[in-house]
Amino acid sequence: MNDTTADPRIIDGKAFAAGLRAEIAARVEALKSRHGIEPGLAVVLAGEHPASQVYVRNKARRTREAGMQSFEHRLPAAVTQDDLLALVHQLNRDPRVNGILVQLPLPEQIGADAVIATIDPAKDVDGFHTTNAGLLAVGGEGMVPCTPLGCLMLLKDRLGDLAGARALVLGRSNIVGKPMAQLLIRESCTVTVAHSRTRDLAAECRRADILVAAVGRPRMVPGDWIRPGATVIDVGINRVDAGNGKTKLAGDVDFESAFPVAGGITPVPGGVGPMTIACLLHNTMLAACRRHGVEVPE
Ligand code: NDP
Repeated sequence: MNDTTADPRIIDGKAFAAGLRAEIAARVEALKSRHGIEPGLAVVLAGEHPASQVYVRNKARRTREAGMQSFEHRLPAAVTQDDLLALVHQLNRDPRVNGILVQLPLPEQIGADAVIATIDPAKDVDGFHTTNAGLLAVGGEGMVPCTPLGCLMLLKDRLGDLAGARALVLGRSNIVGKPMAQLLIRESCTVTVAHSRTRDLAAECRRADILVAAVGRPRMVPGDWIRPGATVIDVGINRVDAGNGKTKLAGDVDFESAFPVAGGITPVPGGVGPMTIACLLHNTMLAACRRHGVEVPE
């Protein structure tokens, strides 16, 4: 592949996320000096899922770098649901903790829905609690899931006002597709949500000015499904064979064929991924401000 990193069509999520983290760190500093508030994020990991270990380590490191308190709770894979729920209750009560994130997937004896339902919605920085999903749907002030929030920030940074744009969200999961669609509706886009039962996916994609792909299938969206000049946000993180006995990451969009057609496109890695953690920090800071009844510092 040619070096495309400097091409203006590339939507550089890595750089945008670095800027956002720096802004958050400055705001956290202001919260501390003006109000004595030090936001805190608790991350809970049950079991030894290798990717989850990396995610949790990165989240904790970024939290500390932003000047916030990081509380890590590592539980054995055999932890019972009752014990995990007891920890969540304890974190709900802990005034030092503004955000609680329970890393998914959980061991099979634990129901993710029960865990999510137990998190105090005001501390639900992942935005997965039904209270927050409901608030997003009715246009209220809740916690917005980090990955779609990061996608929206990249889209607004690139396109400005999104009103009237035709958006296609590929995927309808509770953590990406559905909240992404809600956010785009809120921005006055005309939104279509496609999924595995969609009839003519290629035709649906070709109509879109904005295409957000969150399917979990490597390189599923080829360049000829993309409307020329469209803005493409690739949420997919798929591990594929790199051909040399190693693996590498690939998105849900076939970057090679999509890049020449798209007006703007996020690479994988370096697109949406870094935005997810930055938005987690954003949500934690927001939760701390709301808890203490103070404005987010400018
Ligand atoms: P899910 O598996 O929960 O959802 C996938 C969605 O894609 C479903 O709605 C499914 O449809 C749809 N789908 C699957 N196959 C097809 C197909 N052949 N044609 C059309 N639609 C299809 O995945 P997630 O939403 O959790 O994640 C999606 C991707 O985003 C993954 O690669 C994941 O790793 C990545 N991800 C990245 C994050 C980041 O930080 N960048 C964060 C979260 C996820 P149906 O509902 O009909 O089954």
